[in-house]
Amino acid sequence: MLRYFIWTIGCQMNKAESQQIAGYLDSVGHQSATSFSNADLVILNTCVVRQSAENKVLGTLGLLKGLKNKHPNLQILVTGCLVDSDTQELKRRFPHVDLLFKPGDYHELIARSKRRGVFIEQEASLSTTPSPCAFIPIIQGCDNFCSYCIVPYRRGREVSHPLGEIVCEVEELIRRGIKEVTLLGQNVDSYGHDLPEHPDLADLLNELSSIDDLARIRFLTNHPKDVSLKLIDTLASLNKVCEHLELPVQAGDDDILRDMRRGYTLEQYRELVHTIRRQIPQISLSTDIIVGFPGETEEQFEHSLSLVKEMRFDVIHVAAYSPRPGTIAWREYQDNIPSEVKKERLHKIEELQAAIASEINSQLHGKDVEVLVEGRKKEKWFGRTRSNKLVFFEDDDDWLGQLAKIQIEKTSPWSLGGKVKK
Ligand code: SAM
Ligand code: SF4
Repeated sequence: MLRYFIWTIGCQMNKAESQQIAGYLDSVGHQSATSFSNADLVILNTCVVRQSAENKVLGTLGLLKGLKNKHPNLQILVTGCLVDSDTQELKRRFPHVDLLFKPGDYHELIARSKRRGVFIEQEASLSTTPSPCAFIPIIQGCDNFCSYCIVPYRRGREVSHPLGEIVCEVEELIRRGIKEVTLLGQNVDSYGHDLPEHPDLADLLNELSSIDDLARIRFLTNHPKDVSLKLIDTLASLNKVCEHLELPVQAGDDDILRDMRRGYTLEQYRELVHTIRRQIPQISLSTDIIVGFPGETEEQFEHSLSLVKEMRFDVIHVAAYSPRPGTIAWREYQDNIPSEVKKERLHKIEELQAAIASEINSQLHGKDVEVLVEGRKKEKWFGRTRSNKLVFFEDDDDWLGQLAKIQIEKTSPWSLGGKVKK
């Protein structure tokens, strides 16, 4: 038995993959450790989407080098977007790492670990650990090549998981007590185009909806250029599919969107949001915005602010542009917006969004919402509404994994608080 510690940074896909690796290690008899220092095996699941994330990864690798010097038996495995095709170069830079494997490439992990006799002692299937919510990758990679983005270079081209396998995986998770699944992909709208019968995301949602005891289904991320009317109809008609979409717009200016190679105009994005809101008025929308893209003028940034005011998103993930070596934007444009200007723009969007989210959430005051309870934090139960709002409440009963009806008594831009409606 080994004690393992998984360090994860980055998107939901990374979190899902770490969950799967933990499930696998548990199933072959290993135990999770509470920190690097009491682990025999450390797995770093890395992100290099922005320089700030990459810096954290490099810092952690440095820390582990010191730890390995003190404890030479410590095994260090690295996966995630740091691992590109040139693993030789990474091995040269980080000789203290025992194994590098590409994101999602568990076959590599199992095969190589067995060959080296490192830590895998018996066969077991990869699975997620029990919890009321599970993340399930349905499509790996990305074919889009947005000009700023490193993901297609690190995660490769799109590969969909067969529909039947996803259904079996969800059925197995339900047997273990899962109530909610979130289907993951860099672009879930591309799901199935590479499979023999070309099923799409709507087909998958229909299949999953018929599974008894599955209470909720979510999916992310959608690409505005690819969301189909069939998907919107399906979202509107299936009860189990939650009213929440992650629809990253990235910028509020057509010239910037063109340079980002996003494949849609603002008018098309607006039209899409109107269609979705017409059919599903209670939909909650999240988006991503990048500020300080090369050449972004004050006026172009103002267009992003205006879009935020107009669209009234529920949540915005805002990021300062970070040049990523090897991407189109890195090759073709100069990173010419000073970092103080990027920071200032980022704060302006965050401030505006906090005011908007505060107004949107305050409308829930006094209302009843359904919360799937995920756990406890600071003596309170917490979980999410169908619209993905985080809710806290106090109660003496055991609510873990239950659907609770909560009357909202407190709201903020980031979360809600309430009491159980008995
Ligand atoms: N596939 C999704 C999409 O189409 O938007 C998102 C995937 S990406 C890994 C997550 C977010 O990171 C993006 O939405 C974008 O806002 C941000 N991002 C990606 N590359 C970036 C860069 N070079 N600089 C700043 N933010 C970046
Ligand atoms: Fe990156 Fe664009 Fe693919 Fe999203 S769609 S992962 S932003 S290339």
